[in-house]
Amino acid sequence: MKKILIGTHNKGKFREISYLISKKYKKISPISLKIKSPKETGKTFVANSRLKVKFFSKYIDFPVISDDSGLCIKALNNKPGIYSARLAKKHGSFSKAMKFILKKMKTKENRSAFFICSLSYLDKNGNITSVEGKLKGNISMQMRGTNGFGYDPIFIPLKKEKTFGQMPKLKKINMDHRYLAFKKLKKKIKTL
Ligand code: IMP
Repeated sequence: MKKILIGTHNKGKFREISYLISKKYKKISPISLKIKSPKETGKTFVANSRLKVKFFSKYIDFPVISDDSGLCIKALNNKPGIYSARLAKKHGSFSKAMKFILKKMKTKENRSAFFICSLSYLDKNGNITSVEGKLKGNISMQMRGTNGFGYDPIFIPLKKEKTFGQMPKLKKINMDHRYLAFKKLKKKIKTL
């Protein structure tokens, strides 16, 4: 069976990316190989997703796929953006980071936001393909739902009523920014 490393320590992302990749692949986690995560020193999502696949590929001899993603809120100058994971770390949990965001949003009329995902794939020859997926939506007035991960309870995709946190897992996986990026990647890398 062909192997692919899903280069992330985030269990929510691992689950989503695994689901999208063909059953022909055995999906390996860096956690099972005891490989740590690299420092995210890039200034953009694409720089970070490329940095991640390069880092993980040093430890293995099969393809790697990694994403760098985040939530960008218009009224907050597109923050937290590439700092989405770090904001939660700074506040101690996603729940606290979401409370912080909701408080900042109290005075804002414009609640538009988008989730973005840069997905990079490194093949066994070391060639990297990067694509991007973006999903527009709005920030809810309060946290709703316990499905998904990260900022899912405060993001309502455009033309929907429910937050990602309230949606069945498969519904979210089949429409989010990671899915949109993956669709583009699959057009380029047909074997995935
Ligand atoms: P990074 O790509 O490892 O820097 O982490 C991105 C962070 O953005 C994650 O830890 C999540 O908090 C957030 N994020 C990315 N994608 C999603 C999603 O689909 N739902 C909720 N939060 C997400």
